[in-house]
Amino acid sequence: MEKSVLITGAAGFIGSHLCERFLEDEWVVIALDNFLTGRQSNINHLLSHKNFSFVKCNVNDSIQCEQNVAVVLHFACPASPVDYLKYPLETMKVGSIGTFNTIEFAKKHNARYILASTSEVYGDPLQHPQTESYWGNVNPVGPRSVYDEAKRFSEAIAMSYFREYQLDVRITRIFNTYGPRMKSQDGRVIPNFINQALNNTPITVYGDGQQTRSFCFVSDLVEGIFRLATCHNLQGEIINLGNPDEYTISDLVSVIQQEISTSSPTVYKELPEDDPRKRKPNIQKAIDLLNWSPQVDFRDGLKKTIDYFRSYSSS
Ligand code: NAD
Ligand code: UDP
Repeated sequence: MEKSVLITGAAGFIGSHLCERFLEDEWVVIALDNFLTGRQSNINHLLSHKNFSFVKCNVNDSIQCEQNVAVVLHFACPASPVDYLKYPLETMKVGSIGTFNTIEFAKKHNARYILASTSEVYGDPLQHPQTESYWGNVNPVGPRSVYDEAKRFSEAIAMSYFREYQLDVRITRIFNTYGPRMKSQDGRVIPNFINQALNNTPITVYGDGQQTRSFCFVSDLVEGIFRLATCHNLQGEIINLGNPDEYTISDLVSVIQQEISTSSPTVYKELPEDDPRKRKPNIQKAIDLLNWSPQVDFRDGLKKTIDYFRSYSSS
């Protein structure tokens, strides 16, 4: 296979790490982003790399890439609840029009197509842990539906291209991922709690803190995506990627307070509408098909993320 890849959402948190992973393996990387929620600073260090090129464009308008590519990764999409509630229509468009544009581009180039989907397709799950065969429990008209339903629609598009055109489509349902290059104002729970603890401002627990999430360090996730994109014979597969290590949000406060000495009090705020009560991936399929499982211990990953926010706020 020719080692060339088009990555949308490349200036985002996960996209920028993905670019690095493919460059490390000597792929030619064409990176697209419109900076809606991403940042130029996430990719500045890659701009001088001989195999890296960046095009600022909105993938809902057109896919600005003249080159032939072997693999397309569609990662463009606001991912933090704060971001997608701020940009509801952009989120729906990038899941629908952006998915059509990128998958048509893949079809034209006969390229493999990797779709970034999400554990949010399971909604507030009635099955725990969540396996890929679970259809989910999503409110189709609630505020989160702009994200959940757009991702469900993009999965449906991808599977239609697989059935209609035998396009080599693979879908990953990504569970909560954290690490360096998240924005301090991102709104997701780990950057929020770390920055609140570092700044000695109140740690904001939504609801009673008994809801759970399972957190995956970004290098582990990126390795799983790289394997999904490069392994043979995975056409039409849908694979959960995440770390099954499950924490309540209250547990997370304690872990962060142990890692950062802080005078921040904990304050309780209203639980956002339709906030899932629990979430944990079943990753047996990723173990079997990708020979992948997370390697980074939660406290080690947190330390790296804390160091990042410390150095970022002092630079
Ligand atoms: P992010 O917001 O940091 O990155 C998304 C990137 O997409 C940004 O750089 C943004 O500018 C870009 N983008 C958005 N709309 C665009 C458009 N129309 N044209 C071009 N670029 C556009 O988010 P992230 O956490 O890096 O998430 C990346 C992908 O992974 C998303 O598809 C998201 O749904 C998925 N995902 C992430 C997580 C997670 O925990 N981080 C969990 C599940 C799924
Ligand atoms: N959360 C919280 N305080 C915050 C941010 C988030 O208690 O400052 C909670 C949120 O209500 C959810 C969990 O942490 O139950 C994870 O939220 P996040 O936005 O990181 O991701 P989600 O899994 O909801 O997409």
